[in-house]
Amino acid sequence: MTDRIFNFSAGPGVLPEPVLKQAQKDLWNIFDTGIGILEHSHRGKAFDRVIAEAEADCRELAGIPKNYHVLFLQGGASLQFAMVPMNFLHAGKTADYFNTGEWARRALKEAKKFGAVNEACTSEPQNYTFIPAEKDRKYTQGAAYCHYCWNNTIFGTEFRAEPTPPAGVPLVCDSSSNMFSKPFDVSKFAMLYAGAQKNLGPSGIVLVIIRDDFLQTAREDVATMLSYKVHAKDGSRYNTPNTFGIYLMGQTFKWLKSFGGLKAMAEYNTQKANVLYHYLDSTDFFRGTAEPADRSLMNITFRCRNEALEDKFIKEATAAGFDGLKGHRSVGGMRASVYNAFPIEGVRKLVEFMKKFEQANRSA
Ligand SMILES: *Cc1c(COP(=O)(O)O)cnc(C)c1O
Repeated sequence: MTDRIFNFSAGPGVLPEPVLKQAQKDLWNIFDTGIGILEHSHRGKAFDRVIAEAEADCRELAGIPKNYHVLFLQGGASLQFAMVPMNFLHAGKTADYFNTGEWARRALKEAKKFGAVNEACTSEPQNYTFIPAEKDRKYTQGAAYCHYCWNNTIFGTEFRAEPTPPAGVPLVCDSSSNMFSKPFDVSKFAMLYAGAQKNLGPSGIVLVIIRDDFLQTAREDVATMLSYKVHAKDGSRYNTPNTFGIYLMGQTFKWLKSFGGLKAMAEYNTQKANVLYHYLDSTDFFRGTAEPADRSLMNITFRCRNEALEDKFIKEATAAGFDGLKGHRSVGGMRASVYNAFPIEGVRKLVEFMKKFEQANRSA
């Protein structure tokens, strides 16, 4: 039926097949202009339409209120780690950071270059197997902002609810690996950002959703390309944006809408993740590494109880057409990333494969 295999890569990850097919066409000739999407001016009519539709569909999907800006920036999520403190960590202020995983830790470390940072909570000593409870979070009154990473891509944990910093403290969220995997209430956030290559599109582009009153507090004495105010004022077109990235994200938004929106996506993602979690919970051959209460819907981390079997498992799984299952070196074992576009059949087939592997290697 297809020459494509099951891609469990943590990122860049699997994209919706209808999006890729449409992109193949539009790469050659978009909107019957006789010019492909890569070749259109970022100030021309065709691209005006692409970016306007991408923003409108994004707003519709997530119910983004009018007082928020939608920006398409470059440099991936990692540049946001610097831009957030450069713009918002004002002199004499402290920013609260949750240390719940590798990307969260990197964001915290970057912010320290620009000002005072409080590690409001951490699960680092337990190798990030859980999300610290609300009662264990030490917030700063009057903090410049509170930053957390909603889904910890490497460790397979995910916040069930938004943190609740003291009133008036803006909440800033790295949602790179679970953006648009489920509905959420934008109004709880001052800002969300997401590198696209996990759930939205190609690498190198980042979606930023930012509330206007928070934006207005941004510093202006930063490099022009790193100024949120500049990008908001110029509608993400201060310079030449990643036009193809914006196009592809827009196509992904259209696919999400045709799928039924974020609620339908969340139901599918829950069903999908449960196929694997139920099996992990029912066997003593494999074990999930994240605390069950904090498990991610997007990144499922697990190990063989007999760790010596893991290389064999990954090798045989790859040969059987399940790609990208090797876990990050800081967790070891395996990780199945099952982003929005990942089909449920792939998870069912993986579990069948795991059961066979279990049978064949029980006595090892
Ligand atoms: C992948 C990832 C990043 C880094 O994204 P880049 O685009 O490579 O900078 C940051 N945060 C999270 C949660 C991620 O999953």
